[in-house]
Amino acid sequence: MKSISSFNSRPPPKRRSFNGRRFDMLKVVGDAPDSMSGKRRFKVRCDCGNTFISFMGNLSRVNKSGLPRSCGCAKGGVGGDAN
Ligand SMILES: [Zn+2]
Repeated sequence: MKSISSFNSRPPPKRRSFNGRRFDMLKVVGDAPDSMSGKRRFKVRCDCGNTFISFMGNLSRVNKSGLPRSCGCAKGGVGGDAN
């Protein structure tokens, strides 16, 4: 019989720190309490100075708009003219 670690001494789930991670204009500046449904949330700061709480999923999802991720201030086409 293989020795398996006891269920009682299971380490707590690792919470990866995303501190300092940058997502376009947003930078993770700290942890925020999980949402009611248990989703991870982070405190992020936009390059414009706005600080708010965002879901990890919102930060890491594929950005289809072509706009940089921001607090919303980049709406309207930051990143150069297309064409
Ligand atoms: Zn902003």
